[in-house]
Amino acid sequence: MADKQDYYELLGIAKGASAEEIKKAYRKMAVKYHPDKNPGDKTAEEKFKEVSEAYEVLSDPAKRQQYDQFGHAAFGPGRGGRGGGGFGGGFGGGIDLEEALRTFMGAAGGGGSIFDNFFGGGGARRNPNAPQQGADLRFDLDIDFEEAVLGSKREIRINVNETCTHCNGSGAEPGSGKRTCPDCGGAGQVVSGGGFVQFRQTCPTCRGSGEVIEKPCSKCHGQGLLRNKRNIEVKIPAGVETGSRLRVAGRGEGGRRGGPAGDLYIVLHVREHDFFKRNDLDIICEVPVPFHIATLGGEVSVPTIQGNATLKIPAGTENGKVFRMRGKGVTSPRYGTGDQHILVQIEIPQGLSGKDKKKFEDAIKVLNDKHFPLTQKMRKAARTFYEHKRALEENA
Ligand SMILES: [Zn+2]
Ligand SMILES: [Zn+2]
Repeated sequence: MADKQDYYELLGIAKGASAEEIKKAYRKMAVKYHPDKNPGDKTAEEKFKEVSEAYEVLSDPAKRQQYDQFGHAAFGPGRGGRGGGGFGGGFGGGIDLEEALRTFMGAAGGGGSIFDNFFGGGGARRNPNAPQQGADLRFDLDIDFEEAVLGSKREIRINVNETCTHCNGSGAEPGSGKRTCPDCGGAGQVVSGGGFVQFRQTCPTCRGSGEVIEKPCSKCHGQGLLRNKRNIEVKIPAGVETGSRLRVAGRGEGGRRGGPAGDLYIVLHVREHDFFKRNDLDIICEVPVPFHIATLGGEVSVPTIQGNATLKIPAGTENGKVFRMRGKGVTSPRYGTGDQHILVQIEIPQGLSGKDKKKFEDAIKVLNDKHFPLTQKMRKAARTFYEHKRALEENA
């Protein structure tokens, strides 16, 4: 920065100028060289940056003192250049933040402003001309319980913005060039607002690149992307459940300017099954057990996802008892195999009549209170309650 102009000279003030004089001089310069007033004028833009920088230093007493003593060397090499780090952490020295914001919001420029440091950018501002990866896409897919448990293959049809093959995602007709953006004069940013309250924002015309396409691609009209319908085969592995995500690499939105495509994420929603319920790899189901089998013991046939299986029922099995059948759950290539849990539901015979009803009545004559331990337990609990109640009433 050997050719760097003295800050006082830049603002046209004397070395001993007061804070008020510095401010006044800066305002005059800022208005004169403001990019809004000089669209497309690179010299004015550069000048605007320089005076803003001069003001940034001279308006801060500590920095001004450093500058007076050491000149530009006070702030290190690269100061003022693109991404120059000179004022890293520049807000530490009691600078009026609000004033700095108001001032430098209006400071146009491609980088190296105090904002880069403030926002942690430090010159790492994104280059709008760089290759850009396409966005990831999400596709919600309803699948049947059987597909989730056993795995399946599905073909889905999606609408996806893919990189235009005609312009290779550049948006420019092959062979045509680019020209400076007419709206920001190549700065990539435009300034809105008036007076000293001004806001710098990315130029909407060129999206910050400072350039516009001479001749937009005839296929994608300059978008760099084309909307296509695609059939994608999806392999659903066994053991997935609602919320499982399948990643299909490179099948998301296409990249721009040579960037890679994004990924496609398929989010699964498993339809409920009437009989089988899932808990991770375990299957849970309610199995009706005929009242006489529960009483005398026996076997019932239980559906599992691997086929029918036989479950032994001990005599005296009560309603709500849970049995586990090991290894009869869902098999996942990654997590192994779960179990099936069987919740017993005692089933009472329905619609007995006539001869059958008579036989049944004769048969159950063998039953008495001692065959019903739960009933006995309840009666005992009730009896103690009533005894206690009577005692309390007698003492009242
Ligand atoms: Zn194109
Ligand atoms: Zn522009």
